[in-house]
Amino acid sequence: MREEHVVNWDFDVSVIGGGPVGLALATELTARGHTVCVIEQNDRVGVQPRAKTTNVRTMTHMRRWGLAPEMRRRSPLAPEFPRRVRFATGLFGHDIFSFENAFCAAPVRDERFPEHAEFIPQYVVEGILLDHVKAHPRATVRFNTRLEELEQMSGGGVAATVRDLKTRKVERVTARFLVGADGARSSVRKLLGIQMQGLHSLMSFVTLILRVPGLNADPELEPALFHWLVSPEAPCVMGPMDKQDVWFWGMPQRPGREMTDEELLGFVRKAMRKDCEMEILARDPWTVHKLLADRYRDGDVFLAGDACHLHSPFGGHGMNLGIADAVDLGWKLSAALEGWAGADLLDSYETERKPAHRLVIETSTENVAALSDKFLAPGLDDDTAEGADARAVAAKAVEEAKAPEFRSLGVVLGYRYASPQIVTDDEGAPPEFSVTRYTPTAFPGSLAPHAWPDDGSSLYDHFGTGFTLLRLGQAEEAAESELTKAAAALKLPLKLFALRDEAVRELYGADYALVRPDQHVAWRGDRLTAPAALLDRIRGKPVAVETQRAAATT
Ligand SMILES: Cc1cc2nc3c(=O)[nH]c(=O)nc-3n(C[C@H](O)[C@H](O)[C@H](O)COP(=O)(O)OP(=O)(O)OC[C@H]3O[C@@H](n4cnc5c(N)ncnc54)[C@H](O)[C@@H]3O)c2cc1C
Repeated sequence: MREEHVVNWDFDVSVIGGGPVGLALATELTARGHTVCVIEQNDRVGVQPRAKTTNVRTMTHMRRWGLAPEMRRRSPLAPEFPRRVRFATGLFGHDIFSFENAFCAAPVRDERFPEHAEFIPQYVVEGILLDHVKAHPRATVRFNTRLEELEQMSGGGVAATVRDLKTRKVERVTARFLVGADGARSSVRKLLGIQMQGLHSLMSFVTLILRVPGLNADPELEPALFHWLVSPEAPCVMGPMDKQDVWFWGMPQRPGREMTDEELLGFVRKAMRKDCEMEILARDPWTVHKLLADRYRDGDVFLAGDACHLHSPFGGHGMNLGIADAVDLGWKLSAALEGWAGADLLDSYETERKPAHRLVIETSTENVAALSDKFLAPGLDDDTAEGADARAVAAKAVEEAKAPEFRSLGVVLGYRYASPQIVTDDEGAPPEFSVTRYTPTAFPGSLAPHAWPDDGSSLYDHFGTGFTLLRLGQAEEAAESELTKAAAALKLPLKLFALRDEAVRELYGADYALVRPDQHVAWRGDRLTAPAALLDRIRGKPVAVETQRAAATT
């Protein structure tokens, strides 16, 4: 039976799934003042030891949430540990090529972003987010609880039927919105009848989590984040995962027969070239897909993270991409809950995020096409001049094929949103996109270019929780008061920040930039001529084309 006009929801938002994406969404929403219930079927977070790369974009969100210091503190790697990806003929074999400062993870200051990437196990990231969410008075986290049914209520809002897996008791949890952040096998997606489109089961892999006592301290070990082992007997990838000599090791699974633990350990030893004592802590089989949900929204229900996009993990994007979904959806749901969202704003979630998902799906599928065995060559491991020549040839091939995987700052920071809420009417052609190169630009839709003002803070630290109007040139303050008044009338949060710095003005290419809550540029220009129309446009109010043009006048 459908319930009529429920107005007293238990929560503003129900989040199904306490993985990194659900917890990031709960973090974003509670920070914006909303009540959230996270429903997780497992009895704890961090069940699967998967991601290791938390990229610079996620780390920037962690900074915004006040969690970057904790991420750094919990990193298993010492600051001086080289953030390199090493290709070699064996763990204790000949070096072929190394990508230094892979994923921009070296702990050095960079003009382009405020936080370097961290190499930290996903279970630690989830633990940090969980501790933060649990401590928040507006958050409720329910473990051992599974979503079974959902119902969109006629008065707006969603009722979730959830089962306590310990007591078997069934309960209804109501919320204004519900988000399925429930991973690859998303129940929310299935209950809504949303299909995944694309290619299923491209390749199968197995990851082992191992304890190899004394390995980190072995004086013959070349330290690296990842060791790609170009070994004819056991082409694979391995690397340090956590403190206390915990390592990961992964290799494609040959179709047909599942290998025993002993067989897999045999491959590990061959790839290492040293007979070390080791113990398997976990075994994690996984499959590469290339899939996107055919829609991300049904009424008041949304999908985020692996629930709506699945791709190869080569390149370290999946969790990071899902956390960016949580940020985009988080501020838009918040705008709807606070009453200043236009009718089209929530639909812009899919319009904006889907192209970013497609980009990652394409590049990460290309990454999986070049595994270690691609670089095998006769004599590669020989201690001879011919062997050295073979390694030099392989090094060139590795750098060419794998740069998009380990130097992918273009993918991480350079994607640009294009939606009716982004004002580009008077802009020329957008700057060219490159997977490996990120060129900061304030072309609307892009991530606001980063800068370090003279006081040592990050420019991003000065952005408000809502929109931020940056005044960068010599523009008159009077024009801004009209925008401030229009924002106040709408109850749209807006902060003004003035920075008289010619270099930053040049970087932004305009006297003003209007930056969204997710740090993307919504509009830039030298004059604020139609503030009310501009705000209507960027908050997703359906507006006529002529009005849109007026709003964009510079
Ligand atoms: C080998 C490997 C390495 C990877 N490395 C990286 C990397 O370096 N960087 C990176 O960014 N990404 C990486 N990824 C991808 C990353 O692990 C995923 O993208 C990420 O876990 C997705 O997060 P999520 O929160 O969307 O889904 P999940 O992590 O799958 O979380 C979903 C949660 O929902 C819960 N759930 C499901 N159904 C229900 C229900 N009905 N009721 C209640 N709860 C439910 C599940 O128990 C689960 O806890 C890697 C993946 C693999 C396989």
